Amino acid sequence: MPKKKKPRKPLPAPKGPPKAIKDYARNYKCSHCNSRVNGVTRDPSGIYHMNVGHDDTCPVLRGALTDVPDAIRAALAAGRLPTVLEDRISGGEE
Ligand SMILES: [Zn+2]
Repeated sequence: MPKKKKPRKPLPAPKGPPKAIKDYARNYKCSHCNSRVNGVTRDPSGIYHMNVGHDDTCPVLRGALTDVPDAIRAALAAGRLPTVLEDRISGGEE
């Protein structure tokens, strides 16, 4: 008779984003509209999302241009590349 596996306990929810995520978010700046990260959230599957309030006319917000150079600059400044998704929202800094 196979041994029953003990159900795994769910991992405790972290109190905040890990340092790598915070460092990345602090160093991210849109090179087109100069918007910065408004906040970082964690979805139920554990993926972090960076909320960037791009200007309404920002080509990154519209998807016309990529933000990969900005992401690389943020990662280099933070010293590592965390796995983070950007949620593009309008209404950033003036
Ligand atoms: Zn932008």
